[in-house]
Amino acid sequence: MAKIIDGKAIAADMRQEIADDTRSLIEQGVTPGLAVVLVGEDPASRVYVSMKEKACAAAGIFSVEHKLPATTSEVELLNLIAQLNGDERIDGILVQLPLPDHIDEGKVLEAISPAKDVDGFHPYNVGRLVTGNPLFQPCTPYGVMKMLERTGVELKGKEVVVVGRSNIVGKPVALMCLAEHATVTICHSRTVDLAQKVAAADVVIAAVGRPEMIKGEWIKPGAVVIDVGVNRVGDKKLVGDVEFAAACERAAAITPVPGGVGPMTITMLLYNTVESAKRRVAR
Ligand code: NDP
Repeated sequence: MAKIIDGKAIAADMRQEIADDTRSLIEQGVTPGLAVVLVGEDPASRVYVSMKEKACAAAGIFSVEHKLPATTSEVELLNLIAQLNGDERIDGILVQLPLPDHIDEGKVLEAISPAKDVDGFHPYNVGRLVTGNPLFQPCTPYGVMKMLERTGVELKGKEVVVVGRSNIVGKPVALMCLAEHATVTICHSRTVDLAQKVAAADVVIAAVGRPEMIKGEWIKPGAVVIDVGVNRVGDKKLVGDVEFAAACERAAAITPVPGGVGPMTITMLLYNTVESAKRRVAR
């Protein structure tokens, strides 16, 4: 039976460390600060923003929320970002996505100062990740890397198969594994014979968004499985992209859904904010 990689426990340990770091920064006269910008009334976005605020408060991080109406113009939003870029108290700026249709998401993300881009989505930070000299790394894939590290999974020389090639999970996590000297295969919707690709993997990272599409029988015995997928089936139940029970019979270690990668994303947002504040101290 696979060892269950407990994302909640890893996240709790990390949040304690982040709170300790925050306390020490405050003693040095710097309070880490995060600005969260929410445009419109999307219910899921509101929930995420309130979770982020609560997590900041629990860690001792200063956070300000800018809730703007859905009618906010692109220029108004860009002006707010310019103001936050220049605000000394703010180490991280997060614009909650998605934005309303009349606002160009790319333009907004590029307006955030790369030095405050705690989501790691600015092309500057993407470029630094690609060239192997990262500044801010995107939260969900970075959380996956921390989980692997804290579970003692060595990636050097391993075959890693990433299923999914999105800019927020698949591509960045593949680059991060490459930086750890894994041999990385990226699969997507046009991949031929996914089962065979997955079967060759020492580490499988699934970020697709299709309930249990990766079958337990595809998993190589002894492999490590990280399931980023979050899929609602029926009214309440959440499942991952991997057929969990069957994969448990073959994997050495696996993340559950929920309680796996999920709790790591906000944790890494706090982590990036505190790292940014440490750079402020060093300036
Ligand atoms: P996207 O929809 O942006 O990307 C999905 C990827 O899966 C695409 O690259 C797509 O390929 C690929 N794909 C789709 N169907 C297949 C298939 N049949 N075989 C192989 N690959 C396929 O999703 P995200 O990356 O944003 O998210 C992925 C999952 O992770 C979702 O369930 C999401 O909810 C979850 N997630 C969880 C987070 C957390 O836990 N904190 C944070 C972010 C995401 P193609 O490019 O060819 O279309």
